[in-house]
Amino acid sequence: MLETFSDLTLFITGPTWIRPEIRAAAGLPEFGHRDSENDKRLIPAMRGLRRLAGLPAEPDGEYELMLLNGSGSTAMEAAVRSLVAPGETILHVPVGAFGESWRAMSLANGKKVETLRFAPGEAIDPGKLDAALAEYRPAVVAVTHNETSTGVVNDHLALCRLIRARGALPLVDGVSIFGGAPVDLAGSGCAFYCTSTQKSLALPAGFGIAFVSAEALEKARSVPDRGFSSDLLRQVERARKFQTLTTPNTALCNQLAVQMDYIVNVEGIENRFARHQRLRDMAHAFLAGLPGFDFFAPQGHRSPTLTGALAPEGWTFATLKKVKEALRPHGWLFDPGYGKLNQELESAGRRVCFRIGHMGDVSEKMLSGYLAALGEMLAES
Ligand SMILES: *Cc1c(COP(=O)(O)O)cnc(C)c1O
Repeated sequence: MLETFSDLTLFITGPTWIRPEIRAAAGLPEFGHRDSENDKRLIPAMRGLRRLAGLPAEPDGEYELMLLNGSGSTAMEAAVRSLVAPGETILHVPVGAFGESWRAMSLANGKKVETLRFAPGEAIDPGKLDAALAEYRPAVVAVTHNETSTGVVNDHLALCRLIRARGALPLVDGVSIFGGAPVDLAGSGCAFYCTSTQKSLALPAGFGIAFVSAEALEKARSVPDRGFSSDLLRQVERARKFQTLTTPNTALCNQLAVQMDYIVNVEGIENRFARHQRLRDMAHAFLAGLPGFDFFAPQGHRSPTLTGALAPEGWTFATLKKVKEALRPHGWLFDPGYGKLNQELESAGRRVCFRIGHMGDVSEKMLSGYLAALGEMLAES
């Protein structure tokens, strides 16, 4: 069976390619998650995650960091369940599929939802958001920092200021950007910010990672029916001991500890962010040099961790899937675009979109090799 598993270099937008050292770290010893061995992994790992978020390494009372078993969505659902009280309105501001999915979680949990929606490829317009805040008077607002289905990045700090100015709590989905660009949480006014392990942190999936403000936790005390594992107050009690609420994947804990040591002490946080800028520049130069192709996201809102591209007129989702299969034997996994989005674009007679993931631990050398192969395939398609 094992020989049927292909070792592809992933240029999709998550999960992302994992370094051999991190693959190997999965083989470090398992441990007891209530034992002192847990501290050896999770204390330094959580310190590193705080620094990546632009926070002091030691808990400072402004934000609490929690690792939730599950993935980014687990953290997003926990935020909705713990921070939106009955009768309160949560305003969702989707700019694509992941913003829609967060909205679906609020609806599935019986929350009172209002929606300000932007077309795929657009960023949040602050003027329209301000008007919606004035109209709906939400208690809580959920925005996407980096919309992975389109490659649009929003200015999450400006949005948090705007939302705060109208007296609401801002919740931010930073799943596909955290670890690839600064998020500067300290003093941001953000009430909740989350990510997962399998995107820019370049680990296997398995944790939702949440930063929750002290004020948001205080509010959670008055919100009924927070569930059990979706209860941020239950989660934080364990997180304060650098533990998870329920048994974690100990292989992933080992990998997280090794990866955070690498990010903070070997690569360096600033260098990691700078590398992502260079990878984005490479993807931009590549796309700008392809006749007939265009950027999906507007200038100023192009993600540092993935690039959304519009294929030429006449291309279909099927054309992109053929490109994917043509690259596979060469060891690359191409991203032919977010399925539902491309189906919608195609049936509306619009140009289909594909994505170039350039997040995590991908090097410039790897990306340039991939782009050379991709350029040839696109030219032949
Ligand atoms: C991947 C992703 C999610 C979902 O995260 P999971 O870890 O798969 O639950 C949510 N939001 C964004 C922006 C994402 O990229």
